[in-house]
Amino acid sequence: MKKKQLAILGATGSIGTQALEVVRANPDRFVIQVLTAAANAELLIQQALEFRPRAVVIADERKYAEVKKALAGTSTAVLAGNAALEEVVQGDGIDLVLTALVGSAGLRPTVAAIRAGKDIALANKETLVVAGQLVMALVEKHGVNLLPVDSEHSAIFQCLVGEDSNSVEKIYLTASGGPFRGKSREYLATVSHEQALRHPNWVMGAKITIDSATLMNKGLEVIEAKWLFGLDIRQIDVVVHPQSIVHSLVQFADGSIKAQLGLPDMRLPIQYALMYPERVKNSFKRFSFIAYPEFTFEQPDRQTFRNLALAYHAMERGGNVPCILNAANEVVVAEFLKGKVGFLQMSDIIEETMQAVDHLPLPSLDDYMATDSKSREIATALVTKSKNLYHIVK
Ligand code: NAD
Ligand code: MG
Repeated sequence: MKKKQLAILGATGSIGTQALEVVRANPDRFVIQVLTAAANAELLIQQALEFRPRAVVIADERKYAEVKKALAGTSTAVLAGNAALEEVVQGDGIDLVLTALVGSAGLRPTVAAIRAGKDIALANKETLVVAGQLVMALVEKHGVNLLPVDSEHSAIFQCLVGEDSNSVEKIYLTASGGPFRGKSREYLATVSHEQALRHPNWVMGAKITIDSATLMNKGLEVIEAKWLFGLDIRQIDVVVHPQSIVHSLVQFADGSIKAQLGLPDMRLPIQYALMYPERVKNSFKRFSFIAYPEFTFEQPDRQTFRNLALAYHAMERGGNVPCILNAANEVVVAEFLKGKVGFLQMSDIIEETMQAVDHLPLPSLDDYMATDSKSREIATALVTKSKNLYHIVK
C-alpha cells in the first residue's frame, strides 16, 4: 500500500499531537513530510527528530536559530515565518494537509494547499468561518477533498456516507454547554479565565476551550457546517447534550435521524479524516452504555450566551461579517486569557466591532485579510476603552 504523505500545520498543539499519535500507531500508512508550529521550538524539534520530515516551519522567526541548530545534521529543512507555511504545503508528494493551527492564520496556508491540489483534513474551523464561500469554491474548482476533523462535523460526515445529500432536512450540532451551563449573567460577570479553562469533557487548546465556555465555538461550528455541507443556516440547529457522547445528528426528508456516538476522544475523528474512507482498528477505549445510562438534551441559553446568536446573525448577513465576528472573537479571547477583559464584555465588543467595520457582500482573499486586520484593530481599541471605563467605575 502506498503510504499517505502528510503535512501537519500546528503539530505541537492539541490536535497536532493527537494526530501524531495516530501516525505513530500506523507507521505502515503514513509518512510525515512537513510539521509546523507557532513558537514551541522544543516540541517541534523533538517531533522532527522522531518523524524525520522533509521540512519544518517555525512561524515565530525568533526561534529559527534554535530549531536550525538542533536539526543540523538531519535532512530536515528548517524554515521560519508565516509565508513559509504557504510554501511548504505545496510540496511535491504531499497528499493531505491537516490544518491544526488556531485562528484566521489558517486561511492563507489552506488556500495555498487547495490551489496546489492537496486534500485537506480541516481542524482549523476559523478558515471556513472567515472565508467559507471562497474556500468552498476553490475546493470545487481544484477537485480536492475537504475532510472535517471537528467532532460534530465528522459525525455529520459519517452519517451522510451512502446518503443523497439532497435528502437532508436538517442537522443538529450537539454542544456540551461548557463549564458555565446553567449559570446566570450575574455569575458570569465575575468568572475568571482559570474557571473558563476547566472544560467538563474535552481537553483542548486554550482558544477553543474559552470558545466552548462562551458558546462561540458552537456559533463558529454552525457556520463551518453551513459551508461544509452546503446547508441553509435555518437547517442547522444546536442542542445541548452535556454527556458529549452523541457527537451530532442528521435528520432526513422522511424524518429518520442518524447520529454518530462515541467517547469524547478527538483521535477518532482525526483518524477518520486521515484514513478516509477506511475504518481501521485501533486501541481507543470503547464506549459503554452501562457507564452512561442517561443521555440528556436541552436548549442552549441564547440570552445568557449571546455569542451563539451573534454567529447566526453574522452568517445571515454573510459576506465579510463572519470574518469580522471571528477576528473580534480572537482578540477578546486573547485578552480574556490575560485577564484584561471580562467574560460578558467579550460579546459586547464582538457586537460593536461587527457594527463598526464596513460590510462587503462578496470579498476577495485580500478583502478578507483587510477585514481581519481592521476588525482586530477596532476590537483591540474597544478592549482598551472598556478597561478605562472599568477603572473609572471602580
Ligand atoms: P492548540 O492551541 O492546542 O494548538 C495550535 C497549534 O497551532 C500549535 O501547534 C501552535 O504552535 C500552532 N499555531 C497557533 N497559532 C499559530 C499561528 N498564528 N501561525 C502558525 N501556527 C500557529 O489548538 P488546538 O486546540 O489543537 O486547535 C487547533 C484547531 O483545531 C483550532 O482551529 C480549533 O478550533 C480546532 N479544533 C480543536 C479541537 C480540540 O480538541 N483541540 C477540536 C475541534 C476543533
Ligand atoms: Mg467541535
